[in-house]
Amino acid sequence: MKQPTLKFFGNDSGFGNKNNSAYFEDKGEFFLLDCGFAVFGIIKERFDFSQYKNINIVITHLHNDHAGSLSQVIMYIWFTYGKTVNVMSACEKIQEYLEITGTVKDGYQIKRESENLKFIKTQHVKEIDCYGLRIYLEGKNIVYTGDTNTLEPFKKYSKKADEFYVDVSKKSEVHLKIDDVLSQLEELSQMRSSCFLNAC
Ligand SMILES: [Zn+2]
Repeated sequence: MKQPTLKFFGNDSGFGNKNNSAYFEDKGEFFLLDCGFAVFGIIKERFDFSQYKNINIVITHLHNDHAGSLSQVIMYIWFTYGKTVNVMSACEKIQEYLEITGTVKDGYQIKRESENLKFIKTQHVKEIDCYGLRIYLEGKNIVYTGDTNTLEPFKKYSKKADEFYVDVSKKSEVHLKIDDVLSQLEELSQMRSSCFLNAC
Protein backbone atom coordinates (compact mmCIF):
# COMPACT_ATOMS: atom_id res chain seq x y z
CA MET A 1 0.00 0.00 0.00
CA LYS A 2 1.38 3.38 -1.02
CA GLN A 3 1.71 6.02 1.66
CA PRO A 4 -0.75 8.88 1.24
CA THR A 5 0.73 12.27 0.32
CA LEU A 6 -1.77 14.14 2.46
CA LYS A 7 -1.16 13.92 6.21
CA PHE A 8 -4.36 13.96 8.22
CA PHE A 9 -4.97 15.47 11.66
CA GLY A 10 -8.29 13.68 11.89
CA ASN A 11 -11.25 12.39 9.94
CA ASP A 12 -14.13 12.68 12.36
CA SER A 13 -17.62 13.71 11.39
CA GLY A 14 -18.88 17.15 12.40
CA PHE A 15 -19.42 16.19 16.04
CA GLY A 16 -16.08 14.46 16.66
CA ASN A 17 -13.03 15.90 18.37
CA LYS A 18 -10.64 15.49 15.44
CA ASN A 19 -11.82 17.55 12.49
CA ASN A 20 -11.37 16.28 8.98
CA SER A 21 -8.26 18.21 8.00
CA ALA A 22 -4.90 17.49 6.36
CA TYR A 23 -1.67 19.19 5.36
CA PHE A 24 1.23 18.87 2.96
CA GLU A 25 4.44 20.76 2.33
CA ASP A 26 5.76 21.73 -1.10
CA LYS A 27 8.98 23.61 -1.90
CA GLY A 28 9.03 25.53 1.37
CA GLU A 29 5.31 26.22 1.35
CA PHE A 30 2.78 24.93 3.88
CA PHE A 31 -0.71 23.90 2.75
CA LEU A 32 -3.50 23.21 5.21
CA LEU A 33 -6.67 21.62 3.86
CA ASP A 34 -9.52 22.92 6.00
CA CYS A 35 -9.25 24.50 9.40
CA GLY A 36 -12.03 23.26 11.67
CA PHE A 37 -12.65 24.24 15.28
CA ALA A 38 -10.12 21.71 16.66
CA VAL A 39 -7.29 22.48 14.24
CA PHE A 40 -5.90 25.60 15.91
CA GLY A 41 -4.82 23.70 19.02
CA ILE A 42 -3.06 21.05 16.94
CA ILE A 43 -1.10 23.23 14.56
CA LYS A 44 -0.08 25.71 17.26
CA GLU A 45 1.69 22.87 19.07
CA ARG A 46 3.09 21.12 16.01
CA PHE A 47 4.43 23.72 13.56
CA ASP A 48 7.00 26.46 13.53
CA PHE A 49 5.63 28.76 10.83
CA SER A 50 8.82 30.82 10.63
CA GLN A 51 10.26 28.07 8.39
CA TYR A 52 7.73 28.49 5.56
CA LYS A 53 7.99 31.06 2.78
CA ASN A 54 4.23 30.83 2.17
CA ILE A 55 1.37 29.59 4.33
CA ASN A 56 -1.76 28.55 2.45
CA ILE A 57 -5.03 27.51 4.03
CA VAL A 58 -7.49 25.88 1.66
CA ILE A 59 -11.16 26.00 2.69
CA THR A 60 -13.58 23.59 1.01
CA HIS A 61 -16.71 24.94 2.71
CA LEU A 62 -17.78 26.99 5.71
CA HIS A 63 -19.13 24.35 8.09
CA ASN A 64 -17.63 24.86 11.52
CA ASP A 65 -15.68 21.58 11.47
CA HIS A 66 -13.92 22.83 8.30
CA ALA A 67 -13.49 26.55 8.93
CA GLY A 68 -14.21 27.08 12.64
CA SER A 69 -10.68 28.08 13.69
CA LEU A 70 -9.67 29.79 10.44
CA SER A 71 -9.84 33.28 11.91
CA GLN A 72 -7.94 32.16 15.01
CA VAL A 73 -5.15 30.53 12.96
CA ILE A 74 -4.77 33.58 10.70
CA MET A 75 -4.50 35.90 13.67
CA TYR A 76 -2.10 33.57 15.49
CA ILE A 77 0.22 33.45 12.46
CA TRP A 78 -0.02 37.21 11.91
CA PHE A 79 0.60 38.25 15.51
CA THR A 80 3.16 35.54 16.30
CA TYR A 81 5.12 35.30 13.05
CA GLY A 82 4.15 38.50 11.22
CA LYS A 83 3.10 36.47 8.18
CA THR A 84 0.12 36.88 5.89
CA VAL A 85 -1.84 33.71 5.14
CA ASN A 86 -3.14 32.92 1.66
CA VAL A 87 -6.72 31.75 2.13
CA MET A 88 -7.53 29.65 -0.93
CA SER A 89 -11.24 29.14 -1.34
CA ALA A 90 -14.01 29.31 -3.91
CA CYS A 91 -16.69 29.73 -1.21
CA GLU A 92 -18.99 32.61 -2.10
CA LYS A 93 -19.00 33.97 1.44
CA ILE A 94 -15.36 33.50 2.45
CA GLN A 95 -14.68 37.25 2.55
CA GLU A 96 -17.81 37.89 4.61
CA TYR A 97 -16.92 35.00 6.93
CA LEU A 98 -13.49 36.47 7.65
CA GLU A 99 -14.98 39.93 8.19
CA ILE A 100 -17.71 38.86 10.62
CA THR A 101 -15.20 36.87 12.66
CA GLY A 102 -13.13 40.05 13.04
CA THR A 103 -10.05 38.67 11.31
CA VAL A 104 -7.25 41.21 11.09
CA LYS A 105 -7.18 42.45 7.46
CA ASP A 106 -3.40 42.42 7.06
CA GLY A 107 -3.33 38.79 8.17
CA TYR A 108 -4.78 37.27 5.02
CA GLN A 109 -5.37 37.54 1.31
CA ILE A 110 -7.97 35.51 -0.52
CA LYS A 111 -6.92 33.54 -3.59
CA ARG A 112 -9.37 31.54 -5.63
CA GLU A 113 -6.97 28.89 -6.92
CA SER A 114 -3.44 28.42 -8.25
CA GLU A 115 -1.71 26.60 -11.06
CA ASN A 116 -1.37 23.50 -8.91
CA LEU A 117 -4.63 23.64 -7.00
CA LYS A 118 -8.11 23.82 -8.55
CA PHE A 119 -11.56 23.60 -7.03
CA ILE A 120 -14.30 21.19 -8.09
CA LYS A 121 -17.80 22.31 -7.17
CA THR A 122 -19.83 19.59 -5.51
CA GLN A 123 -23.00 19.10 -3.42
CA HIS A 124 -23.03 18.54 0.31
CA VAL A 125 -25.85 20.49 2.00
CA LYS A 126 -28.33 22.94 0.53
CA GLU A 127 -27.39 25.82 2.83
CA ILE A 128 -23.84 26.45 1.56
CA ASP A 129 -21.63 25.97 -1.49
CA CYS A 130 -18.99 23.29 -1.23
CA TYR A 131 -15.88 22.26 -3.19
CA GLY A 132 -13.47 19.41 -3.63
CA LEU A 133 -9.93 19.80 -4.92
CA ARG A 134 -7.53 18.80 -7.65
CA ILE A 135 -3.94 19.10 -6.55
CA TYR A 136 -0.89 18.57 -8.72
CA LEU A 137 2.05 17.79 -6.49
CA GLU A 138 5.46 16.26 -7.24
CA GLY A 139 4.21 14.80 -10.52
CA LYS A 140 1.12 13.31 -8.88
CA ASN A 141 -2.52 14.09 -9.56
CA ILE A 142 -4.42 14.15 -6.30
CA VAL A 143 -8.20 14.45 -6.05
CA TYR A 144 -9.83 15.28 -2.73
CA THR A 145 -13.61 15.28 -2.47
CA GLY A 146 -14.00 17.07 0.87
CA ASP A 147 -17.52 16.74 2.24
CA THR A 148 -19.78 15.63 -0.59
CA ASN A 149 -22.94 13.64 -1.15
CA THR A 150 -22.08 12.73 -4.75
CA LEU A 151 -19.14 11.34 -6.73
CA GLU A 152 -20.42 12.79 -10.02
CA PRO A 153 -18.26 15.94 -10.28
CA PHE A 154 -15.14 13.91 -9.45
CA LYS A 155 -15.56 11.07 -11.90
CA LYS A 156 -13.73 12.58 -14.83
CA TYR A 157 -10.76 13.51 -12.63
CA SER A 158 -10.62 10.43 -10.43
CA LYS A 159 -9.88 8.11 -13.36
CA LYS A 160 -6.61 9.96 -13.97
CA ALA A 161 -5.79 10.47 -10.30
CA ASP A 162 -2.81 8.88 -8.60
CA GLU A 163 -4.44 9.42 -5.23
CA PHE A 164 -8.16 9.84 -4.61
CA TYR A 165 -9.35 10.91 -1.16
CA VAL A 166 -13.04 10.29 -0.64
CA ASP A 167 -15.43 11.40 2.08
CA VAL A 168 -17.66 8.50 3.09
CA SER A 169 -20.12 7.75 5.84
CA LYS A 170 -22.10 4.77 7.05
CA LYS A 171 -25.45 6.49 7.02
CA SER A 172 -25.45 10.29 6.67
CA GLU A 173 -27.53 11.86 3.88
CA VAL A 174 -25.09 14.72 3.38
CA HIS A 175 -22.04 12.50 2.86
CA LEU A 176 -21.48 9.62 0.45
CA LYS A 177 -22.84 6.37 1.81
CA ILE A 178 -20.05 3.85 1.70
CA ASP A 179 -22.32 1.03 0.56
CA ASP A 180 -23.43 3.10 -2.44
CA VAL A 181 -19.93 3.84 -3.74
CA LEU A 182 -17.75 0.94 -2.63
CA SER A 183 -17.90 -0.91 -5.96
CA GLN A 184 -17.02 2.27 -7.90
CA LEU A 185 -14.05 2.88 -5.62
CA GLU A 186 -12.87 -0.70 -5.97
CA GLU A 187 -13.00 -0.29 -9.74
CA LEU A 188 -10.92 2.89 -9.55
CA SER A 189 -8.36 1.24 -7.30
CA GLN A 190 -7.89 -1.45 -9.89
CA MET A 191 -7.10 1.19 -12.52
CA ARG A 192 -4.40 3.53 -11.23
CA SER A 193 -5.76 5.41 -8.26
CA SER A 194 -4.91 4.75 -4.67
CA CYS A 195 -8.20 5.42 -2.89
CA PHE A 196 -8.11 6.70 0.67
CA LEU A 197 -11.38 6.83 2.57
CA ASN A 198 -12.13 9.56 5.07
CA ALA A 199 -14.78 7.76 7.02
CA CYS A 200 -17.15 9.37 9.43
ZN1 LIG B 1 -19.63 19.77 5.94
